Amino acid sequence: MTLHATYDADNIFAKIIRGEMPSVKLYETDAVLAFMDVFPQSEGHCLAIHKTATAINLFDVDGESLAALIAAVQKVGAAVRDGLKPDGVRIAQFNGAPAGQTVYHLHFHIIPVYDGRALGGHAGGSPADAALLEKTAEKIRSAL
Ligand code: AMP
Repeated sequence: MTLHATYDADNIFAKIIRGEMPSVKLYETDAVLAFMDVFPQSEGHCLAIHKTATAINLFDVDGESLAALIAAVQKVGAAVRDGLKPDGVRIAQFNGAPAGQTVYHLHFHIIPVYDGRALGGHAGGSPADAALLEKTAEKIRSAL
């Protein structure tokens, strides 16, 4: 996928927004949604998206939507920090397939990092255990 593709309304995150695909939600407003990554690179890896901006990447989102989205990243990132007590928190965002993007709806990764625990690979491996994902999500929600 190039940096200049047309937004596909049937991408997986658009389906999550419409409720056509399940997700483990953490935080939601009219504008934004944060939910658990099902192929987490660490315990607590989650994602934040804008619900109405049909942007594939950072370069085609309007400023107002981006401001709402990054505010959500900060809020949920702080809840990851407080709820899971990692040693660091990585915020990541990829634009275009060569840069690592695999889902073409703008999103930010919030990835807690724990001393002595290597991060898993990006967008691969096996899906997380559903019960563990929900348990971790509850710790994050309780810190929001
Ligand atoms: P990126 O490669 O930056 O586009 O990130 C896409 C992310 O979405 C990856 O970390 C995937 O593990 C994650 N992902 C893919 N499908 C789903 C899904 N159905 N629910 C939650 N996360 C997903």
